[in-house]
Amino acid sequence: MANNLKTTTMAWGSPGRYIQGPGEISNLPKYTTKFGDNVFVVIDQFFYEDLTKKLSALYEALPGEFKTVVFNTEVSEEQIAATSAIAKEINPSVIVGIGGGKTLDTAKAVADDLHVPVIVSPTSASTDAPTSSLSVIYKPNGEHSHARHYIKNPDIVLIDSRIIADAPARFLVSGMGDALATVFEAKANQASDSANYIAGESGEFRRTKTAMVVAQACYDMLIENGLKAKIAAENHCITEALETIIEVNTLMSGLGFENTGCAAAHSVQEGITAVPTAGRMLHGEQVAFGTICELVAENAPSELIDEVVDFCMSVGLPITLEDVKVDATDENIRIIAESSVKNSYWAAQPAPVTVEAVMDIVKAADALGHYYYNTQK
Ligand SMILES: [Zn+2]
Repeated sequence: MANNLKTTTMAWGSPGRYIQGPGEISNLPKYTTKFGDNVFVVIDQFFYEDLTKKLSALYEALPGEFKTVVFNTEVSEEQIAATSAIAKEINPSVIVGIGGGKTLDTAKAVADDLHVPVIVSPTSASTDAPTSSLSVIYKPNGEHSHARHYIKNPDIVLIDSRIIADAPARFLVSGMGDALATVFEAKANQASDSANYIAGESGEFRRTKTAMVVAQACYDMLIENGLKAKIAAENHCITEALETIIEVNTLMSGLGFENTGCAAAHSVQEGITAVPTAGRMLHGEQVAFGTICELVAENAPSELIDEVVDFCMSVGLPITLEDVKVDATDENIRIIAESSVKNSYWAAQPAPVTVEAVMDIVKAADALGHYYYNTQK
């Protein structure tokens, strides 16, 4: 269903600052000082002890209050309220989140509740969520609940490339899967003239030319640097290719998706999450298979499918249902299609779809993936 906008007004959104480099977490005081002296930090369990020690030493000589808390298992409204209450005790000038997506989403929500700036520092480059102006909220039992949209993106996105290089390479590769979809979904949204995700509280807006340029650059740099970056990450080496892919996965993909929109690839990804066995796979891994589905849905040129599939195979991203831990039964494919059509972004595709059509797209994409595996043996 082409989703024709009734406006020609465009909107663009982005984080206030984006800072990326080796050892940058040690410069945190330089960045928080801009906002004031009282600093409240939410940190992932894995990094909590180390970073609390390291950062406390840095803040010791500075005026104001400094407090860290460990991220507590789930990003639920209950947990956000509890964390906001602790933060309030020091009257924070700025909230900082250091860790994975849920930790950053908690920091964003707490900052929004207390009306103070937020700095997010992702510890892996596994998705493009850090730069965005939303948090995904779960119920205390871990079920998806809702999204919270904010009027602005994070004030600073701070990335320490050393931390990313030390993380398992699988996270970086998953981030590449998320970034892979960006340009195709951007073009689908352009073709259907759908609204992007910027300033939704104020109305609906068109994508800017800037957004389309960023989405294309995201793809080009991914294809050029992905394999080199994966090999560097496996060896925990910071190279120019790795720095490029960290930027591609986080900044370019993040700006791209929020300023243009999601489409078939993320629709299939969300459908896959409805299959119980798929829970073991990462978001970007599922998006990679979703991207193959989008190319099938759009009947993309064979050379383009070759390029995308070759890329996925070179870095180890999924191209079949089996790769995303889903048995290719009609029952599972129907679950994917039904959930995908009901909850997702198919309306942003230029051509309308039905559940049956999506089932065929997913089946054909899976068969295509197997064809490539068989011919490469
Ligand atoms: Zn995504």
